Amino acid sequence: MRIIKLHDLYFKPFILKEELAQIVKMLVKQVKADLPEGEVPLFVGILNGCFLFAADFIREFDDNCEISFVKLASYEGIKSKANVKQLVGINEDLSGRTVIILEDIIDTGATLQEIYNIFRDKDVKELKVATLFFKPDVFKKELPIDYIGKSIEDKFIVGYGLDYNGLGRNKSEIYQLTIKPKMKNIVLFGPPGVGKGTQADLLKEKYNLIHISTGDVFRYNIKNKTELGLLAKTYMNDGNLVPDEVTINMLKKEVEKNIDSNGFIFDGFPRTESQAIALDTFLAEKGEKINGMVALEVPESLLIERLLERGLTSGRADDTDVKKIRNRFNEYNTKTAILKGFYQEKGNYYGIDGVGSIKDVNNSLSEVFDTL
Ligand code: AMP
Repeated sequence: MRIIKLHDLYFKPFILKEELAQIVKMLVKQVKADLPEGEVPLFVGILNGCFLFAADFIREFDDNCEISFVKLASYEGIKSKANVKQLVGINEDLSGRTVIILEDIIDTGATLQEIYNIFRDKDVKELKVATLFFKPDVFKKELPIDYIGKSIEDKFIVGYGLDYNGLGRNKSEIYQLTIKPKMKNIVLFGPPGVGKGTQADLLKEKYNLIHISTGDVFRYNIKNKTELGLLAKTYMNDGNLVPDEVTINMLKKEVEKNIDSNGFIFDGFPRTESQAIALDTFLAEKGEKINGMVALEVPESLLIERLLERGLTSGRADDTDVKKIRNRFNEYNTKTAILKGFYQEKGNYYGIDGVGSIKDVNNSLSEVFDTL
């Protein structure tokens, strides 16, 4: 889950699939409870926004029912228009039927008013309205709404059928309008010993970013004999990854400490797919995103030499023993390297040749940083 851009606007995740499914289930249960035994209702979906909600609703309903649609126009851009027109009407004979309207969202009530107008002279037995979302703060009419999935604040939303100028309907979740992300957040990526720490030190000054090295935070905690340090120590000394939950919680705390900064260089995080997903979700909740993964690419054979050399002075238990170093590469190759694909899929991966002088590599990195 991450921030999405539709036309000129940005949207952050708001209501996830699981919650939507729960809401639909709850609505169906309420509607069913009120239906007389053996009654075959006619559900009328209000297009376009309702199409995913209506589809999920009638599948969940499962008993005999009919479904039809009317198409109305009410939204232009993100401002609600007062005048609503019926574009495609209803052909079924509705006399004596129980009609249940399926609406995706009711805000001012202008559309709802039009629905009541359309069905007033149709001689129906009963007319009921079920809406997935309701905005109580802007609802201006005195019209009954029988079933409300979820009341939400008056902020523009898209997804699950709802659009912004045509886009966003196909998202499985609901997104809420947010301001343009302000931060530059970069994942500096690459296998152990590739030079991420050295380069991050230079880049953080140049771009005024906060450098978070999860390895450094763990080492600081080990040195200070904190609870976290004691926990991480055994994993680290053997070159194994520290468990995701521990690492993710620590990372979140580090980000929170500097939430007003220009952005972050993440070094050594994420290292697993679930860390990458957690990072996306966490940033998205804050209206921010990862601008890119910038990866330093160096052959493994060169790196083992580099690490052994570093081990002579770094004092790191995991830099001195070839077996431990090999294990770190094994962890990298089996759990971390796949993240290249994770970011590539999103068009967010930038690979850079990490062989060369510190300055040359830094220049290559800066070229990419400038564009992100
Ligand atoms: P580094 O300084 O990045 O080479 O990290 C050193 C060690 O810290 C790793 O071998 C792991 O044991 C632990 N570590 C650092 N970052 C993470 C992470 N994102 N997930 C799990 N373990 C980590």
